[in-house]
Amino acid sequence: MKILVTGGTGYIGSHTVVELQQAGYEVIIADNLINSEASVVDAIGRITGIIPVFEEVDLADPGQADSVFQKHTDIKAVIHFAALKAVGDSVERPLEYYRNNIFSLINLLSSMSRHGVKHIVFSSSCTVYGQPDTLPVKESTARKDAESPYGNTKKIAEDILEDEVRAGSLRCIALRYFNPIGAHPTAMIGELPLGVPDNLVPYITQTAIGKRERLMIFGNDYETKDGTPVRDYIHVVDLAQAHVVALKRMLEDKQISPWEIFNLGTGNGFSVLEVINSFEKVSDMKLNYAFTDRRQGDIEKVWADTEYANQELGWKAERDLDEMMRSAWDWELALNDRNKKN
Ligand code: NAD
Ligand code: UDP
Repeated sequence: MKILVTGGTGYIGSHTVVELQQAGYEVIIADNLINSEASVVDAIGRITGIIPVFEEVDLADPGQADSVFQKHTDIKAVIHFAALKAVGDSVERPLEYYRNNIFSLINLLSSMSRHGVKHIVFSSSCTVYGQPDTLPVKESTARKDAESPYGNTKKIAEDILEDEVRAGSLRCIALRYFNPIGAHPTAMIGELPLGVPDNLVPYITQTAIGKRERLMIFGNDYETKDGTPVRDYIHVVDLAQAHVVALKRMLEDKQISPWEIFNLGTGNGFSVLEVINSFEKVSDMKLNYAFTDRRQGDIEKVWADTEYANQELGWKAERDLDEMMRSAWDWELALNDRNKKN
């Protein structure tokens, strides 16, 4: 069965392609490589023994998006990862984020409708909850005003999808990710941040490897266990596996309603200092870090209520924080080796 994975050379997409292939699906990747490398296609092939079909297209262009469906006439479902995702960058270039993320979705849905493709899994984010009034966050928790243009593209995309499902025969599962970290256990694929990382874990591993001098912790005066912000970190392989489960649910017609939302997290909140402690333990290194002011727009604490996903999807995140940090470190070491050879 052929599945189109947009953004499939990216961080979460590539791990999902591996899981899909290992579950027996045939994968076509559509990506314009704006935030990923073509070499990921071969790396996936080395892990699974199957090189996925790769189409280099910009989905924000309607003609390019449609060309994928014209060429591959038997696509059964789409998993839509392709998007720009840097929060700070989106504040500086809002139009580019709306153009890229919203046009891509509209073009994809138009082509799916034209070519009779009825199933889509969508990458949403816990960012739609903002700072929730109660924790843990349930799927029924009200969404808040977005903190950034990036966050707003996720909110708008959910609304577009829900309306489109209501209007016709489309079926959708929106997955709201908490904080995906870590890498594949083979250390052949992982996160490839462009330039200086915004996110905590690549910043930690790049500091430890010597690419960055020091990690700055954004605030230690929050109302949390140790004053640093708390997040629900989830291993990217657990997250990838949830996509296979969601896809199967849709294809086997097991949805309760044609528009469904699931939180993907572990249900555990860890502070920045706890993440650093875990890294220091698994790497047997001391990390150079210091405290600085809060980062504007940061949420104090958020973690998922995972009960609905656990029960209804029949999926549960299995990997703990140490495993997440160990795999992230192994990936940084592998990247370092690769750079030395080149
Ligand atoms: P990523 O940047 O590694 O992957 C996204 C991929 O989409 C990249 O390969 C990029 O080249 C591609 N892409 C972007 N615009 C495109 C376009 N117009 N046409 C074709 N390809 C395009 O990001 P990721 O971390 O793997 O995130 C995947 C999805 O999950 C995104 O939608 C992101 O917003 C969402 N998400 C990510 C996180 C996270 O922390 N990583 C959290 C919540 C939600
Ligand atoms: N963080 C930090 N220093 C950094 C990057 C991140 O202290 O260089 C903190 C950030 O304030 C947040 C946590 O690490 O509390 C996770 O940040 P990330 O950007 O990875 O995820 P998000 O804030 O989007 O949940």
